Amino acid sequence: MPLVVQKYGGTSVADPERINAVADHIARTRRHGSDVVVVVSAMGKTTDDLIRLASDINDVPPGREMDMLITAGERIAMSALAMAVTAKGVPAASFTGSQAGIISDTVHTKAKILEVRGDRLRQALAEGKVPIVGGAQGVSTGNDVTFLGRGGSDTTAVALAAALGADECEIYTDVTGVFTADPRLVPGARRLAKVSFEEMLEMCASGCPKPEMRSVEFARNHHVPLHVRSSFTWEPGTWVKEEDPSMEQAIISAVVHDTGEAKVTVTHVPDHPGIAARLFRSLADEHVNVDMIVQNVSLDGTTDISFTVPVADLVVGMEVCRAHAAEIGAADVLADSDIAKVSLIGAGMKTHPGIAATMFETLASEGVNIDMISTSPIRISCVVKADKVEQAVQALHDAFKLAG
Ligand code: ASP
Ligand code: MG
Repeated sequence: MPLVVQKYGGTSVADPERINAVADHIARTRRHGSDVVVVVSAMGKTTDDLIRLASDINDVPPGREMDMLITAGERIAMSALAMAVTAKGVPAASFTGSQAGIISDTVHTKAKILEVRGDRLRQALAEGKVPIVGGAQGVSTGNDVTFLGRGGSDTTAVALAAALGADECEIYTDVTGVFTADPRLVPGARRLAKVSFEEMLEMCASGCPKPEMRSVEFARNHHVPLHVRSSFTWEPGTWVKEEDPSMEQAIISAVVHDTGEAKVTVTHVPDHPGIAARLFRSLADEHVNVDMIVQNVSLDGTTDISFTVPVADLVVGMEVCRAHAAEIGAADVLADSDIAKVSLIGAGMKTHPGIAATMFETLASEGVNIDMISTSPIRISCVVKADKVEQAVQALHDAFKLAG
């Protein structure tokens, strides 16, 4: 019998009606002759509420207790869903991450999966039951409950699909798939029927909010096909899987934007070996996640270095740069959080010259100034002013005829 892992996000199980609709779909999948393993997120905004509860009580909640608290959200959802599925006449049993045999490291609030045993899930399947697993959780090598981090339920689902040898992993959410652009900015954006792992990873890194990047990496490494689709309409969504080498790739698949980054500029640093090394080592030591880096040509023996960081890392990033400014001989450290990153992604651009030129011409004709540029073999990203991002995304979507 084919085996499918189905992951349901928080909006998919937000209230009893939604839980009922999901249970109907699980029962339907079984009737169609598939075995099903379900992974479920906490209902609605439960995770946010629990995090708020913790911060109302303790400014620095102990990680162990934080994980115990947050994972309670998924525990509510999994037992409620198991009750709903049972009510449809399909036997079901809920399992915590620990019971499912998801072994993680000991890093609380963002634990990494080390091993998936899954014995009890196999046993439940053999008994004709639908196992329903709490997402984003495991048990550490030190025997404590761990949380895999925000969005970690996608990773749980992919990890279980890999361990149980599932044929596919369905990620159910409140959108109908992955689009050629954010439909809120581009009403004519089209749902992609298929996207390669490489493209999806570039899209995740460039600001596409779903699916979770870590789960896509896991799926690529373990050859698990993903199907991102809606639990509201149940229509076929977007397949994320290996590139089909027999088919020609789309030149451009999507335009993705990210307004969650800020730019730091360190001015007038001496242009000689070791300066960038020292600066970026210090940033790394403070866990500042650097994305784009641009260094200008030096004319007078000094140069400016600019880089982008997630807005959340800006304060620490600025502190690190200011602390090292004197030592590396920098004149000043400037911050700009009024930026946005616009990226074009497509596997076919590897073999098609002129994509960058068309992108820059399109932005120029819109009067959008490019602040920074970075590329990979299948991506071109430009930093622009935040208030130009909507216009830039729309113009690029048009210029590359992504509406189809
Ligand atoms: N409920 C958790 C969150 O919202 C974990 C997950 O759903 O992936 O981040
Ligand atoms: Mg979630």
